[in-house]
Amino acid sequence: MRDTYDAVVVGAGVFGAWTAYHLRKSGRSVALLDQYGPANSRASSGDESRILRMGYGAEEIYTRWALHSRELWIELFDAVNQPELFQQTGALWTPLPSDRRAVETRTTFKKCGVAFEDLDAAGLQARFPQFRFTSERVGIFEPKAGVLVARKAVTQVVAEAVRNGVEYFRQAASAPEGGGIKTSSGGGIQAGLFVYACGPWLPKIFPELLAGRIRATRQEVFYFGTPPGDRRFSPPQMPAWIDFGDERCPYVLPEVENRGFKLAFDRHGPEFDPDTGDRVATGVDAARAFLGERFPALAEAPLLESRVCQYENTWNGDFLIDRHPDFDHVWLAGGGSGHGFKHGPAVGEYLTKLIDGKAASEPKFSLAGKTLARSRSVY
Ligand SMILES: Cc1cc2nc3c(=O)[nH]c(=O)nc-3n(C[C@H](O)[C@H](O)[C@H](O)COP(=O)(O)OP(=O)(O)OC[C@H]3O[C@@H](n4cnc5c(N)ncnc54)[C@H](O)[C@@H]3O)c2cc1C
Repeated sequence: MRDTYDAVVVGAGVFGAWTAYHLRKSGRSVALLDQYGPANSRASSGDESRILRMGYGAEEIYTRWALHSRELWIELFDAVNQPELFQQTGALWTPLPSDRRAVETRTTFKKCGVAFEDLDAAGLQARFPQFRFTSERVGIFEPKAGVLVARKAVTQVVAEAVRNGVEYFRQAASAPEGGGIKTSSGGGIQAGLFVYACGPWLPKIFPELLAGRIRATRQEVFYFGTPPGDRRFSPPQMPAWIDFGDERCPYVLPEVENRGFKLAFDRHGPEFDPDTGDRVATGVDAARAFLGERFPALAEAPLLESRVCQYENTWNGDFLIDRHPDFDHVWLAGGGSGHGFKHGPAVGEYLTKLIDGKAASEPKFSLAGKTLARSRSVY
């Protein structure tokens, strides 16, 4: 490791990996540091899979970023000859017919040119007979959405960044000290620019600034086994599915890479420590009960794996991408809030342009707008 770089990125999750990639493309010498490794098992980016969908209700900026990120993901996967890291499964939304967000989602889709299909209740049942709903639902289907093979995808972003000249090190970094940082190996690094993309660890590094403004919550994920030879729960028959009409906020990912049918609930769990938090899931009975209710063919499905991950929530779900108020050369990127993975390419590109004065700063991502309230509005 050299002792001076143009830029140092701390954190090789999806935000940091893409930021290092874009900073290098801007011509800088870049070091990328991670204390546990890219998309490690404690990181929010460390699970098998993540949904990439364009639907965000009225939140047009996230719809546009998802569309743009989709292109950049596909471009990178083609460049590393691993196109299967994005699986175009489609994404299905199943709101109640009266749901306001369904109307907003359709409006934003039309405005942004996102392909979608409307399904009435009968059409929904005919197209997706593996579901059983207990109240009336309609469908909004996004054919271009899909599933990112998350952990491997981040590893490939880092590998491609390294091929382009980024230097990666497994090191823990300190908070900024003067014009540099200390690393866990005992050395120091100076740089003109530091980006802290530390996901749920951000409040540990900047407690005075971020404690309460980014809150890590414990989120459980379950992988259930499908019946032998049964293709109803794999693409193309099964899309990613997000339910608007159930207070448990369930979502599922179809079986990808033969890892099982993934089920989780999007409501926030209890507060969680990403270093030491216990990662044994406890909610399997509730998950199985839900599975039997919504997918009768999986009522007896065996649990193959479970994971405990964490969201790193801002007060309303908007990202934090801004300069540190006390250090001109320090930038913060985080607050993915349970929906950030898909946007990694756009986050890295936006931050690089912001640093270079080539993008206007977006008020939604400002530190000043991050309050201590809890009022989630971005999903
Ligand atoms: C259960 C679950 C389901 C989700 N589903 C989706 C989905 O379907 N679609 C979607 O788009 N998003 C989803 N998300 C959200 C998404 O995964 C996260 O927003 C995203 O992965 C956050 O990435 P990050 O790079 O900010 O953080 P992380 O991935 O946590 O990366 C931060 C990195 O920083 C490193 N680090 C921290 N401190 C230091 C230090 N001092 N020195 C060196 N390294 C350090 C850590 O080791 C870590 O690797 C989900 C999240 C969870 C938990």
